[in-house]
Amino acid sequence: MPRCPACGEKIDHLTYIQQATVWFKGQYDKNGYSMVFEEDRLVEREEYRCPKCRALLAENEDEAIKILEGEK
Ligand SMILES: [Zn+2]
Repeated sequence: MPRCPACGEKIDHLTYIQQATVWFKGQYDKNGYSMVFEEDRLVEREEYRCPKCRALLAENEDEAIKILEGEK
């Protein structure tokens, strides 16, 4: 099992955090007001953090996979 390079704990997953801008349509009709998801999402930042110490370990999927694969 890989170890976190920051705290040294064994980790079997990373905590994934995504910051994104998402567009909705605010509409009003016979059923009242509702928010409808628009098929538009701009991912601004991705973070993969250690689930034990919360250290930032990777900022994209390739880096995250390398950590989870362990040292080669
Ligand atoms: Zn850690």
